Amino acid sequence: MAPEMTTLKGQPLNRTAVDTLMRRRFFYTPTADIYGGVAGFYDFGPPGCALQANIVETWRKHFVLEEDMLEVDSPMITPFPVLKTSGHVERFCDFVAKDSENGEILRADHVVEEVLEARLKGDKEARGQKVEAAAEDGAADKKKKKKVKGKVEAIKLDDAVVQEYTEILAKIDNYDGPGLSELFEKYDIRNPNTGNKFKMPVYEQNLMFDVTIGGARLPAYLRPETAQGQFLNFSKLLEFNQQKMPFASAQIGKSGRNEIAPRSGLLRVREFLMAEIEHYVDPESGKKHTRFHEVEDVKINLLDGKVQLEGKTETTAITIGEGVRTGVIDNETVGYFMARIQLFMLRLGLDPAKIRFREHMENEMAHYARYCVDCELLTSYGWIECVGCADRSAYDLSCHTKATGVPLVVRETRQEPLTITEYVAETTKAKFGPRFKQDGKAVQSAIDQLTEEVKEKLSLELKDNGKITIAVPGVGDGKVELTSDLIKIEQQTRTEHTREFIPNVIEPSFGIGRIFYSLCEQVFWTREGAEERAVLSFPPAIAPTKVLLVPLSSNPDFKPMIAELTKKLRKHHLSSRVDDSGASIGKRYSRNDELGTPFGITVDFQSLKDNTITLRDRDSTDQVRATQDEILEALVKLVHGTETWSQVYERLPKFEGQELE
Ligand code: AMP
Repeated sequence: MAPEMTTLKGQPLNRTAVDTLMRRRFFYTPTADIYGGVAGFYDFGPPGCALQANIVETWRKHFVLEEDMLEVDSPMITPFPVLKTSGHVERFCDFVAKDSENGEILRADHVVEEVLEARLKGDKEARGQKVEAAAEDGAADKKKKKKVKGKVEAIKLDDAVVQEYTEILAKIDNYDGPGLSELFEKYDIRNPNTGNKFKMPVYEQNLMFDVTIGGARLPAYLRPETAQGQFLNFSKLLEFNQQKMPFASAQIGKSGRNEIAPRSGLLRVREFLMAEIEHYVDPESGKKHTRFHEVEDVKINLLDGKVQLEGKTETTAITIGEGVRTGVIDNETVGYFMARIQLFMLRLGLDPAKIRFREHMENEMAHYARYCVDCELLTSYGWIECVGCADRSAYDLSCHTKATGVPLVVRETRQEPLTITEYVAETTKAKFGPRFKQDGKAVQSAIDQLTEEVKEKLSLELKDNGKITIAVPGVGDGKVELTSDLIKIEQQTRTEHTREFIPNVIEPSFGIGRIFYSLCEQVFWTREGAEERAVLSFPPAIAPTKVLLVPLSSNPDFKPMIAELTKKLRKHHLSSRVDDSGASIGKRYSRNDELGTPFGITVDFQSLKDNTITLRDRDSTDQVRATQDEILEALVKLVHGTETWSQVYERLPKFEGQELE
């Protein structure tokens, strides 16, 4: 089980406090709230929009700008054939279990997790109570204790059972349909909401929203990922990049997934913002990355796939360089992006101890991936996948090439021409067409698919017997005879000056909403001895609003200077809010600590005399006093990250004024 979530200051995290704050200060709210809402959809309010925009802007700078990625923007509605070809129609599914009595449908792996975790929690409770009970009245081993909280019953399990459950949970993502069904039967897993059994076996349900287009009602889906819009434009992107490889494209946009049972607030929703990178590499390059040396020393926590299969969840702290050198990380390009993801998370203000990379196990990989590692963030819901980093090989570009006949390939001039000797099968057009008529295409396609080995064998047969027989599904009895007047199979030599290949794709795929929520939990804390005084310690660049402007009182004399400061801040692109309510300064600061506003400016009577203002730091509550221009200069540097608060506090005169409650 995941470690207990603590705040920035090491206090136990109170999830309800975070969630209540988020809703009360309108970071987000359930969609169509006044109609009762619908699970899995949220609206963002002003601070939520600003926070999301700042995360996206940081992402764009950190990835798109830093690496000259080519950004595209394609519609959410995707025609049916695209997602049919990509395999999503058949395979973008979750296993579900149906309640045998009320028909409720739940996600199978989540039910197993919920039930086994509840039993383990019950075991922990029972063991704890046993100790207390023994201490109190010397009671002997009490097998069964009373109900603890909600669905959790304090029942002591055998040590072997605890071990078994722990191992199952460590590899829960690796179970396939039959494997999950077996768990339901073996551990008598029932619907936690009703206590009923589920109908077995579990079955697959597709996760895409289907929609129709126009009067003709053409079938389509809401895209479940932004990747396909990038793949379909591959040739145009390559041309835009002057045919140079490797390169990456990127897309930021909404995706829709019709999740079976949305839960955990923003962490599992049905429409969410994604930011995806498709990095195209030559498969023969060994997936090397030219900037790998820049990130070799970046440290990460890695949870290896093999460790999980042993039923364990211990992570190893390694550098990316070490990981790639020892083969724990598949290749340099994946390693490069893992490091860049880690640096991005740190830039957002996430705690390195609450970031880990988890390698996927064989069965849990998406249908298009050959290797995958997730960046997970620790939250009060446990470790949550926030970025998937997959090696999609040539899967998508090959599928779309095959389906459309449009080659999504790279053509490169060879430095050394390549001489190729191979068997070539050529049909005699004048006779072949009239002989096979409407079956001609199928026969030709069967010939085109013959392997080198088979062609060699058939060429000998044709020479010896003057005819060959090949398999052509759907024509006659499935076999077609070809005589030597219809086909020639001979060895030929040719020189190739260009090389054609389908690139492989490494894809880091970010869920912005999950990062948003995890960040809010990780930067949340409360002032010592005052649980109601919550603070969100976003780094200045990420915070929704940068500066709070507080006139000492509602005296109209302060208004002109506040207006002047607002104008100046705007000129520097620093967002600000004025709080000129009648509340005490301390209260007004506290209210904005909750919004994560990193700095506060107070205008008082002294300001009107000598043009000095005070600047307060949210986290330390320390203040300095200087002229407007000096404070503005410091603010620009603080928000751009070129100066820290301690440097500002060191160089500007300290202000010891009280934070009046
Ligand atoms: P995937 O393509 O499943 O690897 O998802 C890519 C990223 O999208 C994940 O790492 C999550 O951050 C995000 N994501 C996937 N499903 C959801 C969801 N239902 N709600 C919110 N974010 C999601």
